[in-house]
Amino acid sequence: MTSPRFEEGALIGVLTTQPLDRVLDYRAPRGGCAAGDHVEVPFGPRKVTGVVWGQGAGDYDPAKVKSAIRVLDLPPMRAPMREFLGRVADYTLTPMPAMLRLATRAPGLTDPPGMRKIYRRGHGQPARMTPARARVLDLLEEHDGLGFMLGELADLAGVGSSVVKGLVASGAVAEEEAPRDVPYPPLDPDMAGKALTTDQELAAARLREGIAAGRYGTTLLKGVTGSGKTEVYLEAVAACLKAGRQALVLLPEIALTAEFLTRVEARFGAKPAEWHSGVTTTERRRCWKMVAENGAQLVVGARSALFLPFHDLGLIVVDEEHDTSYKQEDGVLYNARDMAVLRASLERAQVVLASATPSLESWVNVQQGKYARLDLESRYGPAVMPEMRAIDMRTEEVPSGSWISPALKGAVMQRLERGEQSLLFLNRRGYAPLTLCRACGHQIGCKHCDARMVEHRFLKRLMCHQCGETAPMPETCPNCEVAGKLAAVGPGVERITEEAQALFPDARVTVLSSDLFGSARALKARILEIAEGAADIVVGTQLVAKGHNFPKLTLVGVIDSDLGLQGSDLRAAERTFQLMRQVAGRAGRAEARGTALLQSFQPEHPVIRAILSGDEEGFWAAEAASRRAAGVPPYGRMAGIVISSPDMQQAFDLGNRLARLDAPLRRIGAQLFGPAPAPIARVRGRHRVRLLVKAEKTAPLQSALAEWAAQVRVPANARLAIDIDPQSFL
Ligand SMILES: [Zn+2]
Ligand SMILES: [Zn+2]
Repeated sequence: MTSPRFEEGALIGVLTTQPLDRVLDYRAPRGGCAAGDHVEVPFGPRKVTGVVWGQGAGDYDPAKVKSAIRVLDLPPMRAPMREFLGRVADYTLTPMPAMLRLATRAPGLTDPPGMRKIYRRGHGQPARMTPARARVLDLLEEHDGLGFMLGELADLAGVGSSVVKGLVASGAVAEEEAPRDVPYPPLDPDMAGKALTTDQELAAARLREGIAAGRYGTTLLKGVTGSGKTEVYLEAVAACLKAGRQALVLLPEIALTAEFLTRVEARFGAKPAEWHSGVTTTERRRCWKMVAENGAQLVVGARSALFLPFHDLGLIVVDEEHDTSYKQEDGVLYNARDMAVLRASLERAQVVLASATPSLESWVNVQQGKYARLDLESRYGPAVMPEMRAIDMRTEEVPSGSWISPALKGAVMQRLERGEQSLLFLNRRGYAPLTLCRACGHQIGCKHCDARMVEHRFLKRLMCHQCGETAPMPETCPNCEVAGKLAAVGPGVERITEEAQALFPDARVTVLSSDLFGSARALKARILEIAEGAADIVVGTQLVAKGHNFPKLTLVGVIDSDLGLQGSDLRAAERTFQLMRQVAGRAGRAEARGTALLQSFQPEHPVIRAILSGDEEGFWAAEAASRRAAGVPPYGRMAGIVISSPDMQQAFDLGNRLARLDAPLRRIGAQLFGPAPAPIARVRGRHRVRLLVKAEKTAPLQSALAEWAAQVRVPANARLAIDIDPQSFL
């Protein structure tokens, strides 16, 4: 497939990242160019870069069309990638310049190749240690031998560049000349992998067949934690590398990356390329270029890695495919899982969606024959799914201000006596979700949002989980100024930790919550210590549900199983089911069968009953039927519209105007709800108004939405965001 060529002077259309709604006409530069070439073009008084998108439209005065300056020394953007960007733009209603920004988000792409100075940890020690010097050395150690550029290192450590230079003089930091953008060390797909069980081997063989066929296909790989999904999909990666094509593995959380890289290294003899927000800018640039030049066989990354310019992409793995973090909630609102399927179909690549608790969307796609499905049984046999029981909180005597029932306490006691670990799970960070004044009834809220400030006692701060604002815990009520009357209401993990400490004074109690660790590395180190037995009782948020192994853990106690069942989110039941199953899956791994106890005030709730019975297929079928009856995703289509403005009236006026102009929506049979204040009506000082559009599965929703929204002019200080297939309803 060769891209059309344009002789020097021919009319070409160039897509730039400038916020314009169209492709601009230029003339092909000296030497001509081809569609997909990265070019530099004059733009007013400036020079900007862009991509040759095709023939020029020719609707400009030919005398005024300027000539492109030069073709940049970058691999051209391939036709499937250009089509991918166009399709994502159409689907998410995103302007093309924003799509191009997403696809070229690597610094210094246009810099000439050459040598550069880089800095990494040296062997010496500085004669005198200062806090600034310690920060630089800590940072370098944290990044395990990676090289930084001078400015980048100084910025990240928050020091002046002279501090770094001082460390170079003492030998504590090494200054080296390094070539830019070298290829990644080759991965060896022929190295022997781990021995696979019969089950795993069968699944791996099916995935290899898909790769060998060289065409598009999506497979849901389902298996409980510990069933060896990773080993199986690494076999698909091996087959893909052997076929000479590139592979991409998407992970939902950066904290999981380090562990995964180690496994890749053990399997293929070298580390793959990495792409996520924790990667240095020099490494990002190298990754982008090497992916385009086929100098990177495997990329492990966050959702935005989907927009890297792969030379020949043969496989995309979406690990923990049900994870909500695959939905980008800022800027371009795309779901990486769904867009991975789209990209693979354009690249004739295979997709593997791996999960212990798949999303309902994927389950339905399997039912409808769009995806294949492979199930893995646990390598430990049936022991791995714990025995699950509800603790009926209506019949337990729990003193006020306490949340651990006598039944749960007894079960923890047993584990302590046997030297086993227990996990107390509560998906709520901080000490208490609400701080109330007992004198005047005032609730402490955030200055910028309609959200409550959450007390974080261990950090001695109040924190807004919406905007991140923090404040010291006040001594007196900010409303009535009475001292000593502020009281914590409800539990967070920190408060459960306190309660556990009081109930089990001789036990080692530890808390795992993302906000209590300065870095992903510190968190990972602590998780390893706990796994090796450094704690008897772990109190944790949903962080512990994500893929970490605790072999000594035999009891999971869920403090509040009802949390998340209520609420307006159509996926509330699905999320609760997934989360409870993941958490329960932490109990009982290698040796003994574990127990999961769910504290609930409504143990007869269908979701709680489905969790306890372990009848997954039954749960999915029931959930699918209720969504089908309601005409909601995946059986209907939805779009969320959020209008935000510093002025509440302005936001509502705009919402009302849109509601009146609903003819384009009515034409496709869509229903419009709202405007209504968003559930969190004010965030960072901006008022938020929501509208919701519901349509049938086959309705041309995007074109109708585009026509509808184009009828109003959005004032400069207001914003209108359209979210197709919204995941969050806040
Ligand atoms: Zn008060
Ligand atoms: Zn806030």
